[in-house]
Amino acid sequence: MSTPCTSTRSENVAGLRISVRISPYKPLANPAPGWDAALPAMWPATTSTLVAGAHDAVLIDGLVADAESQVLADWVQASGRHLKRVYVTHGHVDHFLGLAGLLAASPGADLVCLPQVLSEATAQLEAEGMAVWDGLFPGQLPQQLAQPTALSGPLEVEGRPLHVLDVGRSDTSPTTIVHVLDADAVLSGDLVR
Ligand SMILES: [Zn+2]
Repeated sequence: MSTPCTSTRSENVAGLRISVRISPYKPLANPAPGWDAALPAMWPATTSTLVAGAHDAVLIDGLVADAESQVLADWVQASGRHLKRVYVTHGHVDHFLGLAGLLAASPGADLVCLPQVLSEATAQLEAEGMAVWDGLFPGQLPQQLAQPTALSGPLEVEGRPLHVLDVGRSDTSPTTIVHVLDADAVLSGDLVR
């Protein structure tokens, strides 16, 4: 099995620039019980999407490991936009755990999810949940853990709506997707793989 490289793609639609960063597959230190040892155990690629207007931007989903989150932070900073917030599509920490550095470098930016997603996100940050993630990625998790808060009000970029939809179950429930109305684009989180 080859390991895909990080890749990025950008589209300019209706005055918004939508850039998708696809993280590489990550080797797992401790595969699940019963895993065929002849096969490499890998964590799947993860997408982070930056929806940027002329000056501001919103990031949809982040990453888990400290080192890759720093690369993600550099990518967002290089956009030249003011990061207003990070929206997390669902409660799995591989979509937000490593974002403390990015948020610290983005004054005023917050980390949010829908209220109904918050309980799973918070539970995964407790000791039992973190033990699972630390077992998957030993020595790779950040010292400071990012923790989302409940989104209040609309999600938008410079007045352009990012419509959040609760779609029920993907790899967990509840999960959400983001419909960028003006660009006719759907940011699907883990609903589509
Ligand atoms: Zn997930």
